[in-house]
Amino acid sequence: MTLFRASVLDTPANPFTGGRLRSDEDCGLLVEQGVITARGPFETLRTAHPDEPVLDLREGILLPGMVDTHVHFPQVRIIGGLGLPLLDWLDQCALPEEMRLADVDHARGVAHDFVSGLVDAGTTTALVFGAHFAGAVDTMFEAADQWGLRVTTGLVTSDRLLPEPLLTTPERARAESRELAGRWHGKGRLRYAVTPRFSLSASDALLESCAQTVAEVPGAFFTSHVNENVHEIREVASLFDGAAYVDTYDRHGLLTPRSVLAHDVHPTDRELATLAGRGTAVAHCPTSNAALGSGLFPLRRHVEAGVRVALGSDVGAGTGFSLFKEGLQAYFAQQLLGEQGLPLTSAHLLWLSTAAGADALGLADEVGVLSVGRQFDAIWVLPEPGDPLAVGLANAASADDALSKVFALGTTSDVGGVWVGGDQTAAGRWRRPRHR
Ligand SMILES: [Zn+2]
Repeated sequence: MTLFRASVLDTPANPFTGGRLRSDEDCGLLVEQGVITARGPFETLRTAHPDEPVLDLREGILLPGMVDTHVHFPQVRIIGGLGLPLLDWLDQCALPEEMRLADVDHARGVAHDFVSGLVDAGTTTALVFGAHFAGAVDTMFEAADQWGLRVTTGLVTSDRLLPEPLLTTPERARAESRELAGRWHGKGRLRYAVTPRFSLSASDALLESCAQTVAEVPGAFFTSHVNENVHEIREVASLFDGAAYVDTYDRHGLLTPRSVLAHDVHPTDRELATLAGRGTAVAHCPTSNAALGSGLFPLRRHVEAGVRVALGSDVGAGTGFSLFKEGLQAYFAQQLLGEQGLPLTSAHLLWLSTAAGADALGLADEVGVLSVGRQFDAIWVLPEPGDPLAVGLANAASADDALSKVFALGTTSDVGGVWVGGDQTAAGRWRRPRHR
């Protein structure tokens, strides 16, 4: 048992429907076997539990662990390939790198770099876009298991229009996916996600095999891309007899509350109604949308249609692992949309980075907020004394203001500690994550 003492910020209620930031300045959190079993004023908990060891984190701010709902493991080494739109970026940056993951030893190194990136950014839960090679996906599961992260991932599948080494067949995709799911789904904090790359590179036969795999792996997730780029959308329509992009998945029964589609920058109203009706969540990836010039995300239309939205870094088109940066870019995008935008407060940004992601991944009862009964997944924001974030926090007018400063100024190097299920996975900004 450990008694944590900290200034705690989280969002137990959705700010898009009236919820507000919860701020407890001298908060006690009692953690037993990874679960928060009591929360209240520190002195009250101290009196009730006088003998438990205390971890005093009052110097910084304690937040729930970040939840990244869209991030590509094979792309960690190509972050920063700027200057190209989506389809050119795929051809010139992403796909050549993804082909290298046919070599399992190479993939293992990439998986190590990737998981280090997640932990350093304070990401404790992620829906990870895997690789096109089963051996590489194994290395991803191994690395996530080693660090104890909550990772949902799977084999990425495609059967057309990509370079030949990245292609499979519906039969092989199903067999390899089932084998991987058999090995990893439900092991520790790991789960399987059926993952066609996007319907541009997936025939109806492949999508049907994905539906069969989802049915064969109880509790599996489904993830893919949708409506990212106007040229891509046009190509998809021409391949599917004019079908709307969302419908290419929906007509195979792939959209459920356990599905997450990335981007959705250019949806029609009817597509939004379909997503809302299916309970499917959208991973909004703001730095990627800006870097590739994909467009400004219509958040207001999603919220008004009742579509669940969370944040994704979309590494490597996204420009890093930090969800502070994604939150800030989400805020910028809504500002730039003018009257069509949805002005965001710091509470919205924290919700999108934590509890909304937990909800999108079916983990709302386990993580996303620091309430009694939840797992202790938390990050300690601890800027270097004297740096602008530390100065800002010392002079913040309110908890909401302090949180705004975290999103405006915070970087991965401000994450001073990371806990998953009560285990500290990284401690100190310059140290590599410690193996469990
Ligand atoms: Zn992506």
